[in-house]
Amino acid sequence: MLVRPTVRAFRTSRCRPAFAPPHNSNEFSRIPTPMTAQLIDGKQIAEQCRQQVRQQADAMLQQTGITPHLAAILCGDDPASQVYVRNKEKACATAGFRSTLHRLPADVTQPQLLQLIAALNSNPDVHGILVQLPLPRHLDTVAILDAVTPLKDVDAFHPENVGLMLQGRPRFVPCTPSGVMRLLSATGIPTAGRHAVVIGRSDIVGKPMAALLLQKGADATVTVCHSRTPDIAVLCRQADIVVAAVGIPRFVRGDWLKPDAVVIDVGINRLGDKLVGDVDFDAAVDRVAAITPVPGGVGPMTIAMLLENTLTAARLQINHP
Ligand code: NAP
Repeated sequence: MLVRPTVRAFRTSRCRPAFAPPHNSNEFSRIPTPMTAQLIDGKQIAEQCRQQVRQQADAMLQQTGITPHLAAILCGDDPASQVYVRNKEKACATAGFRSTLHRLPADVTQPQLLQLIAALNSNPDVHGILVQLPLPRHLDTVAILDAVTPLKDVDAFHPENVGLMLQGRPRFVPCTPSGVMRLLSATGIPTAGRHAVVIGRSDIVGKPMAALLLQKGADATVTVCHSRTPDIAVLCRQADIVVAAVGIPRFVRGDWLKPDAVVIDVGINRLGDKLVGDVDFDAAVDRVAAITPVPGGVGPMTIAMLLENTLTAARLQINHP
């Protein structure tokens, strides 16, 4: 599990909810300024979250007879999307959820897809709906995502859910940024008063990530960088927390990082037969205080948060506390 013998895994004994303040404000200072970084073990933290979800789903089943049910829609046969959907189905099974996969051909029409979404929206047996992205190019992704009823929008892409999250009263929180917040809180890394630099401003990762870090309770000071930002290296060197969501392998270089920085690498890039992040891990690991590996960092958290959102969706729909 360890990337190299000198790297210590940053594990926790329990999984605290997002936005939970650290137990004591000096927790950050407990992170030493080591020669090698603490490795934030997303796999282990995600497993704890998944076990909690399983327990809650079991309790709900006992009390109500209802099992959370996620419906996934996959259009076409993109190999990466097939893997992602399969992993989500497996995660549902281990959480004790039902999942249904609706496979549609790559040439599905917009009305056909909208018709399926309408049917799932009105099916009381389905609690969460996930449209696997990217969709084939002839489809209007925004219109498709907007068609998912906000109460079943477990990816939290619907404008209503985005608005609620921005106002600090989330119904669902987008899975990847929510997973990052959980990694930080579960490892006792405070965000309050820290300067967080988020690289990337996509609707799925960068923007909601910045919003969550900025939220009351998280209280970071946030800088968002994108492709038109000059001198990203200079901004990164001022960062206590760097979140990289760029989609460019090893974009963030080791000498861009402060020695006491915490580095969260959201990137998943295939280089030959290897998966690498958006951070030059080998250069960073000897410089910073803590870092997420790729794979095994943010990725597992994304799926764990999807399960949490699906459980929340089921609770909301059956009015179960
Ligand atoms: P995206 O939609 O392509 O957005 C990339 C962002 O990076 C954009 O805001 C873009 O800026 C910015 N960017 C691109 N080139 C840049 C440059 N040279 N300098 C500074 N900023 C630059 O990607 P995404 O969906 O956010 O995903 C980002 C990465 O995270 C990808 O590697 C993806 O595979 C990964 N990911 C991982 C998970 C997970 O579960 N771990 C989940 C989702 C995504 P502009 O807006 O100016 O174009």
